[in-house]
Amino acid sequence: MVSRVIPVETFDLVIFGGTGDLARRKILPGLYRRYVAGQIPEGSRIIGAARAELDDAGFRAFVAEAIEEFVPAKARDAEAVARFLEHLHYVSVDAKGTTGWKELGKLIRKDVVQAFYFSVAPSLFGDLAERLHGNKIATPDSRIVVEKPFGRDLESARALNATLAEHFAESQIYRIDHYLGKETVQNLMAVRFANILFEPLWNARHVDHVQITVAETVGVGGRGAYYDRSGAMRDMVQNHMMQLLCLIAMEAPYQFDPDAVRDEKLKVIRALEPVTPEDIVRGQYRASKDTASYPADAENPNSTTESFIALKVEVANWRWKGTPFYLRTGKRLRARASEIAIVFKEVPHSIFGDEEGWRENVLSIRLQPNEGMTLSVMIKEPGPGGMRLTEVPLDMSFAEALGEDGADIPDAYERLIMDVIRGNQTLFMRGDEVEAAWAWTDPIIAGWEAKGDKPKGYDAFSSGPEDALMLLHRDARRWREIAE
Ligand code: NAP
Repeated sequence: MVSRVIPVETFDLVIFGGTGDLARRKILPGLYRRYVAGQIPEGSRIIGAARAELDDAGFRAFVAEAIEEFVPAKARDAEAVARFLEHLHYVSVDAKGTTGWKELGKLIRKDVVQAFYFSVAPSLFGDLAERLHGNKIATPDSRIVVEKPFGRDLESARALNATLAEHFAESQIYRIDHYLGKETVQNLMAVRFANILFEPLWNARHVDHVQITVAETVGVGGRGAYYDRSGAMRDMVQNHMMQLLCLIAMEAPYQFDPDAVRDEKLKVIRALEPVTPEDIVRGQYRASKDTASYPADAENPNSTTESFIALKVEVANWRWKGTPFYLRTGKRLRARASEIAIVFKEVPHSIFGDEEGWRENVLSIRLQPNEGMTLSVMIKEPGPGGMRLTEVPLDMSFAEALGEDGADIPDAYERLIMDVIRGNQTLFMRGDEVEAAWAWTDPIIAGWEAKGDKPKGYDAFSSGPEDALMLLHRDARRWREIAE
């Protein structure tokens, strides 16, 4: 069932921050996997760039280790790794200085696809754009890939968009949100727009509510200082969860074309109602027997940053008016599980009376672990004994369909990098989308900053603060279980 691999055009890909954590864990192992899959043409080159003084051999050794650590053993092959490493090069470059730019300019070819991945701190994005342009390295066809976070509010996002726009056209800028590269997220579009089954039901008349949960078991230890300046709203809701919400709520684009898709997503963001304080619950995890509290992890005893947030969001348009979207995300929760659940309304009248165990139909889209979709339907319990109803899942688990443990499903980063080389922006955020998302987020954050809102404590490895449960109870609904 794995789809055909079509090689991309020959490319030079420069990874600024090529020695960083993201490059080591995701970008470079992902490129190796695409190489093994036959998608990367032999003439292509991957050029690591950072300030560290490495040579090609040093960088290759670094990448070999990264592959060893982050590619599952059965997908590794010594001979393929050796061949892949031959495509790697390294230039020592300072994003803020003059070092290395001449060398990079000489190395990079103008007659192949050129892509520059900004896998560095956002404070360097502007410097990189300026120097790529100033040193005449970039061409009007070059692509730049920009990592998150894209700003921390509307003003900074606008400023960043303006800086990038001085040197690159919007069609050259790929703002990455790796959630959009997930197999299931793309499948959401296929399920919605390649089937007649769901679309007639996909509206406030038939959908009772939508739940989007992104739960993690890890705390913020290690990156506590960074996280404490951001919090769950900026780190997860403004970008990843907003993108998921858009894909569920958007109208059918007139074709599967980058701007057509992004136009529809933008309309959803613009239709979001402001959220009132009573529709938001913020939380901070407490210490457990073995793990530290959020303020301890963040090394800020007086921190008021949220490690958990739940919100009730309304999309004010004809399709969705009256169907709430409940979003929740947090650290140190019960399980590592991300799910979108479309909870349909009950049948208007039950001909079976008040059956015990009666449940609504739910389309559950799991992003992790075990990417897949399940549609729960009511059927007759098999066997004699009258008409008793039971709920069964119609299961579409991609992990099973695509091979044991899903090892053959390309990681989101792999897919997205190949899209950059292909020049396909469909799964990347456009500048106006990011700004619209901040325009919705800013007043929410300003609201709780103005009143000195303090997050509620919640037990580590729980489902979050009690108040988050109340957010749904009060509407006579309940959250789905956070489970792997
Ligand atoms: P990191 O581990 O701190 O790596 C930073 C990289 O940038 C290093 O290679 C560093 O190498 C290089 N660098 C720093 N200053 C530089 C300069 N002046 N000129 C050239 N290179 C410079 O950071 P990261 O975790 O990989 O994150 C990179 C980006 O991805 C950030 O924007 C981050 O927000 C985003 N991101 C990361 C993750 C993740 O899981 N790590 C997830 C999502 C998004 P030298 O010090 O040798 O120069």
